[in-house]
Amino acid sequence: MSSVRSVVTPEKLLRPEVLALHAYHVPPASGMIKLDAMENPYLLPQTLREDIARLVADAEINRYPDAAARELKTAIGKVTNLPPGMDILLGNGSDEIIQLLALAVTRPGAVLLSVEPSFVMYRMIATFTGMRYVGVPLTDDFSLDLDATLDTIKREQPALVFLAYPNNPTGNLFDADTVLKIIQAAPGLVVVDEAYYAFASDSFIPHLAHYDNLLVMRTFSKLGMAGLRLGFLAGRATWLSQLEKLRLPYNVGVLPQLVATRLLAHHDVLLTQAEDIKLERTRLLATLDAISGVRAYPSAANFILFRVEKATQIFEGLKQRGVLIKNLNGGHPALIDCLRVTIGTPAENERFVSALKDCLHSI
Ligand code: PMP
Repeated sequence: MSSVRSVVTPEKLLRPEVLALHAYHVPPASGMIKLDAMENPYLLPQTLREDIARLVADAEINRYPDAAARELKTAIGKVTNLPPGMDILLGNGSDEIIQLLALAVTRPGAVLLSVEPSFVMYRMIATFTGMRYVGVPLTDDFSLDLDATLDTIKREQPALVFLAYPNNPTGNLFDADTVLKIIQAAPGLVVVDEAYYAFASDSFIPHLAHYDNLLVMRTFSKLGMAGLRLGFLAGRATWLSQLEKLRLPYNVGVLPQLVATRLLAHHDVLLTQAEDIKLERTRLLATLDAISGVRAYPSAANFILFRVEKATQIFEGLKQRGVLIKNLNGGHPALIDCLRVTIGTPAENERFVSALKDCLHSI
């Protein structure tokens, strides 16, 4: 006689830390001016798009991709100026690389340390990989608090430290000497997350050769390839060959490999778009600064953080007017009344500014 088993529910089966999580929220954006996710707003030149169409038409999508992604890695190596002896590991977006790093070091009590406020996936991934997350508050102007960070590192002995350079969602570039002191003091790996490198004036890639616990992570998402999902980790082969064991064999598909390789051959096109975005950033910052009631923070990335009274109402008002940005109010105590806008095209930015002014008058 078969015994009747009791009902299996997620509450009974899943780990409490998973049940307590909220999924990363991606709001619908159809028909909106989309300034919420740090995407590059520009399309590629027509000739390059046609080139890619031909490439995709001939792609062997009946085959698995090259698991080692040799051509793509060579293309990345060329545009990245890696110091000799450094290797690359590819991820399906850099989110996947954060997860892979956490999986590699997790064990009971292992700590992932970052700063607050910063990229929310550091905490989220620490939580679901069973690591203990520790966040060190930034100072009031969103700088690194060196003493507090060093004290916390000494106390918590983190296996993994993540520093976003420039930082998201604050947009600032931390002081490089302070970051170096943190790298020197950390007992484990320090990952400098350069997701926004294309809009910043500095990088830790040249430092890779000097620090045995440093890794640099980048993504091509902000440079015009968000839809391809492609990130990479650069560092010493001693680390990367170990981490490779955790990378799922075909994590970067045939089409992303082909298209990204071709796009990187036209890196100059993407960099020119990034330069245009930087010019717009300067213009938008000045415009926001001139609006009374708005406090905009300087940015080395492709977005601007700003503070405004009744931020959530402003956010909703912008949405009603067809402009989607990111509401950070309520997410972290240091981000009360903060909103984040991605730099769009000049026309999109104008639409955003006029909608914002409209909201400020009517709320
Ligand atoms: N790091 C930082 C600091 C980010 O802001 C983001 C995306 N918002 C990522 C990593 C992840 O980017 P992706 O997975 O698209 O490569």
